[in-house]
Amino acid sequence: MKIANRAKRFSRAFHRVAAGPAVHVNINEARREKISGNIDNFVVSRLSFGAHRGDYPHFRDHFEAVANSIWKNAERVPKDHSIRTPLRLRPAKSTFPSAMDFDYDVVIIGGAFSGAATALMLKRKRPNSRVLIIEKTTQFDRKVGESTTEASSCYMTRILGLTHYLGHHQLAKQGLRLWFSNRSDQRFDDCVEVGARYQARLQTFQVDRSTLDSHLLEIAVEAGCDLWRPAKVTNCELNGGRGQRLTATSSHFGEADGTERNVTCRWIVDASGRAAMFSRKLGYFRQNAEHPINAVWARFTGVKQWDSYEWRERFPDYVSVCRTGREWATNHLMGRGWWCWIIPLRGGDVSAGIVYDSRIFKLPEGANLGQRLHAHILGHPVGREIFGAAKLIEGDVHALSMLPYHSEKVCEDGWAAVGDAAGFIDPLYSPGLDFCSYTSYYVADLLSRALGGEEVADRLRYYNEQYSVMYRDWFETLFKDKYFYMGDADLMSTALLLDVTSYYFGLVIRLYRDPETEFLNLPFRGRGGRFAARMMKFYNRRLVAMGKRRWLTGCYGKSNAGWRELYDGFTPDRRLWKLFRKGLLRWWKCELTNLRLIFTARVRPLPTESSAAASAEACKV
Ligand SMILES: Cc1cc2nc3c(=O)[nH]c(=O)nc-3n(C[C@H](O)[C@H](O)[C@H](O)COP(=O)(O)OP(=O)(O)OC[C@H]3O[C@@H](n4cnc5c(N)ncnc54)[C@H](O)[C@@H]3O)c2cc1C
Repeated sequence: MKIANRAKRFSRAFHRVAAGPAVHVNINEARREKISGNIDNFVVSRLSFGAHRGDYPHFRDHFEAVANSIWKNAERVPKDHSIRTPLRLRPAKSTFPSAMDFDYDVVIIGGAFSGAATALMLKRKRPNSRVLIIEKTTQFDRKVGESTTEASSCYMTRILGLTHYLGHHQLAKQGLRLWFSNRSDQRFDDCVEVGARYQARLQTFQVDRSTLDSHLLEIAVEAGCDLWRPAKVTNCELNGGRGQRLTATSSHFGEADGTERNVTCRWIVDASGRAAMFSRKLGYFRQNAEHPINAVWARFTGVKQWDSYEWRERFPDYVSVCRTGREWATNHLMGRGWWCWIIPLRGGDVSAGIVYDSRIFKLPEGANLGQRLHAHILGHPVGREIFGAAKLIEGDVHALSMLPYHSEKVCEDGWAAVGDAAGFIDPLYSPGLDFCSYTSYYVADLLSRALGGEEVADRLRYYNEQYSVMYRDWFETLFKDKYFYMGDADLMSTALLLDVTSYYFGLVIRLYRDPETEFLNLPFRGRGGRFAARMMKFYNRRLVAMGKRRWLTGCYGKSNAGWRELYDGFTPDRRLWKLFRKGLLRWWKCELTNLRLIFTARVRPLPTESSAAASAEACKV
């Protein structure tokens, strides 16, 4: 490794790149259908004696971004689930231009939602900035088929200004709706339904990410950003305040460049999604082993309509109690250790997938991943009604294992990570684009200040510190061990009321009041944030404990039949208190049931893992 300006630096630090880098790709049992990948054993280890990291070129080797999933024709892998591909290391040819001679002020790796949003915001805040986006794909795929929340919708409509586009090209979402059952042969209209009675009060959307991301990238380019596409960043050299250098490869570069181009800049934004380039390369990547969740999803055609005339005839009570279209909600089938989403997409396809905790649930075996997912959905009485005649779209089945991770550091002088490149927790409640919104806005603001000559050391420190707090608190308040109780209608409906009202009190009300300021304040900050986090962690822990006791005493899911709770909807004002009180009352009622179980119920041996049908059967008492 070449160390520039050696005399000055040697006294301050010594850096070393550990040998033996490898790309690990985990493959499921069927050996081809999915997975996740990791670059590990690639440690930029160092002994540092007060050195500034930014003073040093940290990585100069060629590296492969990790693909999010492995497609049908992917390479077969050994049964130990790993492929090891040696990474090639290549020394950089390092001579750096002086500060004003950089090719660009900012280069953004990844042109999907987070990358394009950061670029657009930066150009709006600082029109003279020179911004390059490098995106490796020629076309975006549909990703998951996603729901937006009140926070991410606020960002898209109020900050990014996409209201017109979203209205014309994506679907309006009508809230969350949860469905519970306790027998696989239960009647559809006996299943428990929890959701809104009326239209949602705040705009949210069901988005096809391929078209949303393309549109956002287009307007970033219209705003003056340059775009290299398709081009893949393969090499980075970080030099802190002295500037950064990237190498990108593409078969589409002109003859003068061949397949490789170099570019220098003052700042790099890592918006590479789960590839999380900087986090992995700099050794900051942390898998969240406390939350071993996995996802399998697909797109379907021929899914039955939730509000059809046929259903009106068959289930008149079901139809008459609800004043909004159930079809436009994000419908969730809930079970112990898993939940399935059902999201309509513009044009008629439906995205459906399962997320499950591998400590509790195992996806039943089947011919292939798509059929296993379909069979699982059909095991739930609501899924059976809706997906009975549905067909999987060929070649559109995906999976990811070990979903949650985060980067211990999300910025340094010279680079910052946004969106999934910084971390990801869990798709329940759809917080993915919330994270993208906060981080892209914060980083765009930070860069615009830095380019304007402002000292941004404090802002970099805040971003590192508060991102960690936000990640940890968001995880522990809303997701930690939730899969132990999410299949029980009593407990999960309590959580829904308390979680969503807390989200409104803590974030949504403020965001709609003053989005420009509030998107700069990462969640769970200050004394108020700490108090809210403590309260939410407490009730979540209680619900987990009660869920475990209900399971052990055979009372889990006992209330999953014969009732519906359709509330007026969450509004960002004092009417929220009504729903919050309702959540508190239900929690205390659950505590009373728990006391009764402590004194009267016998613990019975039950399987620790459950399938949809098996967990429903185990609920029978
Ligand atoms: C199962 C599941 C369900 C989800 N459901 C929801 C939901 O309902 N609602 C929601 O808000 N969120 C959801 N999410 C999360 C959401 O998908 C992500 O948060 C979001 O896609 C992150 O966007 P991003 O722009 O940060 O990264 P990505 O969308 O992953 O974009 C990264 C971009 O970087 C490019 N790139 C990568 N490496 C390179 C390179 N070397 N050179 C150049 N370009 C590169 C890629 O091609 C890609 O275009 C879900 C996630 C999962 C896993």
